[in-house]
Amino acid sequence: MKSGSSSPFSKTGSGLRAYPLPLQFIGGEWRLGGDGTAGQVSNPATHEVLAEVPRASKQDLDDALAAASNAFDPWRRMSAVDRGNILTAAAHLLRQRADELARIMSLEQGKTLAEAKLEFMLSAETFEWYAAEGRRANGRIMPARLPGARQMVLPQPLGPVAAFTPWNFPGLLPARKIAPALAAGCTMVMKPSEETPASALVLAAVLAEAGLPSGVLNMVLGVPQDISEHLIASPIIRKITFTGSVPVGKQLARLAAEGVKPCTLELGGHSAALIFADADMDRAVATCVQGKTRNAGQVCTSPTRFLVHESIHDEFVKRFAKALGDVVIGPGNSPSSQMGPLANGRRVEAMEQLVKDATSAGGELYAGGERLGNTGNFFRPTILVDTPISAGPMCVEPFGPVALVSRFSRTEDAIAEANRLPYGLAAYAFTQSAATAVTVSEELDAGGIGINSFAVSHVEAPFGGIKESGIGYEGGSEGLAAFMHHKYVHHA
Ligand code: NAD
Repeated sequence: MKSGSSSPFSKTGSGLRAYPLPLQFIGGEWRLGGDGTAGQVSNPATHEVLAEVPRASKQDLDDALAAASNAFDPWRRMSAVDRGNILTAAAHLLRQRADELARIMSLEQGKTLAEAKLEFMLSAETFEWYAAEGRRANGRIMPARLPGARQMVLPQPLGPVAAFTPWNFPGLLPARKIAPALAAGCTMVMKPSEETPASALVLAAVLAEAGLPSGVLNMVLGVPQDISEHLIASPIIRKITFTGSVPVGKQLARLAAEGVKPCTLELGGHSAALIFADADMDRAVATCVQGKTRNAGQVCTSPTRFLVHESIHDEFVKRFAKALGDVVIGPGNSPSSQMGPLANGRRVEAMEQLVKDATSAGGELYAGGERLGNTGNFFRPTILVDTPISAGPMCVEPFGPVALVSRFSRTEDAIAEANRLPYGLAAYAFTQSAATAVTVSEELDAGGIGINSFAVSHVEAPFGGIKESGIGYEGGSEGLAAFMHHKYVHHA
């Protein structure tokens, strides 16, 4: 397909293309890379090459910046109701096509069809929620200090945003940035992951179909460092938002600091799950299996350090290993699969290294620990027991289907271990005691706490890390405020 207004997601007789050609979306047009190609998208289950990825030229990036700049004024002046109507119409299209889109996401990322479909449904929900929240970007009027005076706060959109998203939730993470930014009246240049571009590009396609004016949302692809350096340095960009690893987050924050540009950073985690003696064992095991195998463990909030009370430790490990062993692993697009392959070869190598580091430091390999089959990036769910806390795997985010299990006797020791690392994204506890739930909610240093649950990210609630896990929030009214400044007006 050549550059033009026709979407790579257009219907082709029997439905959406099996895997669409990933094109950039700039100023309302679909465009090839000005500098050729930057790499390939491949199917993590088979290693089959699905497509070439365009490589943006400087001209492409400047065109995207100019488009976002030109679109900003009319977009911010459009009523919040009209902006919301476009987001809502796009949400309807996502829901209608969720089955077909799930197949595309599963092809490029590896996750199961059920997870991929849910991700598009949650993306639709995110569009709808911010369509409504945009109407509630209320300012305030406060009692004046002088008779007849007015003192007001007027929330206003920050301006064009540069957004960078990763490959683990290639649809939902872009949606969590696009929806609040557009609802606030900002425009955007987004660089989705080059490894999973289609799931993000489809959001641009449905928004365009729903009537989004040209230039409000642009998507570019290429070499991440070249793109982020160029976009963040541009005076057009007034806000940075990134989801990904801690090292890249720090790098982008340094670039943003040059121009004193606000950043929202959603970075990594190494979340502890405290399993107390009074936990409902059946529920804890079932929830831990689901939490650990979701997206093959490639989730920033995935439980990674399982701290289990010594009185139930052995039974928990035995039952956890049995249940993990029963999980059906297979290609994401096979309906029977409960866990797909890892998204790329780097993750398989990282898991192999992690197992090696843990066992050579004295950890016991209790289950799994190896790749599965010769084709694709499949890795068995793995349990490592009693890995010393000084070992690398107990300190660096695993980002894969590996559970590091240790035992504790005193609650304060478990809390201290949970809080030991520079990460502070999420932490969990399994208990039936309200008092214990209150204690851990107060004492765990994390942006999100789950009690008998790993669900700490809902569109209506703020989600964000503390310490090196990030700055700022997505979700909730906080997620909208992240794209606005609060202008104070004193009219004497
Ligand atoms: P990585 O650190 O190179 O990349 C992480 C993401 O950032 C990718 O999507 C990549 O395209 C993007 N990126 C990299 N350099 C960039 C730059 N200069 N400018 C803009 N974007 C850039 O490593 P990776 O191998 O893709 O992932 C490894 C680690 O990243 C994982 O172990 C995990 O810790 C972390 N990660 C976290 C999340 C999250 O949701 N917080 C998502 C994906 C990866």
